[in-house]
Amino acid sequence: MQARPCGACDLCCTWLGVNSLGKPAHVACVHLRREGGCAVYEARPADCRGFVCMWKEEARLPHSLRPDLSRVILTRDEAGRRLRVTCSPANPLAWRRPATFKRLMRLCRANWADGIGVFVIAGLRQWLLTPRGVMALGEVRDDVPVRFALHADGSAQVELLAPVPAGEDAERYVATLRATPGSPGAGQT
Ligand code: SF4
Ligand code: SF4
Repeated sequence: MQARPCGACDLCCTWLGVNSLGKPAHVACVHLRREGGCAVYEARPADCRGFVCMWKEEARLPHSLRPDLSRVILTRDEAGRRLRVTCSPANPLAWRRPATFKRLMRLCRANWADGIGVFVIAGLRQWLLTPRGVMALGEVRDDVPVRFALHADGSAQVELLAPVPAGEDAERYVATLRATPGSPGAGQT
């Protein structure tokens, strides 16, 4: 399927960190043209080439979720099981805007039965959207591996996995479990 054009959006060129350019995340790229678009598009760095914007790739997502309009960027993890809704630091509550929230909940319900979870990330805080509502995961660094199970009744369990310190069994993880009320295993920590 052909990707749709970005239109007036250039949010990822500010939002992305690009190591080879020494560009931190959330700072406008030096190659971003005043009139929009990348001045070095054909020779853009690997970080930029590797970035896949869900809105651009998936025509079924509504126009209103275009990142510059919604102020959220949707991406998938490598396995495709985790849809990430990332808010910019300047708009950490963008996902809570009624129209955006409604669309995200629709995305959650449409993917739930396939075991695909919609995770919202705003700074250090994360949430899992469930058909029952929003499940707060608390402060979770973005590089912490997450394992989760989505149940047919709309409940969920999420394990936040942290590697054990160097020198200990590298295969072992410290897991913190979060669960929606009523889900199998709820009440564990
Ligand atoms: S965030 Fe998506 S729609 Fe916006 S400029 Fe980047 S690729 Fe295009
Ligand atoms: S190099 Fe181009 S595509 Fe990459 S962040 Fe800069 S403006 Fe965007």
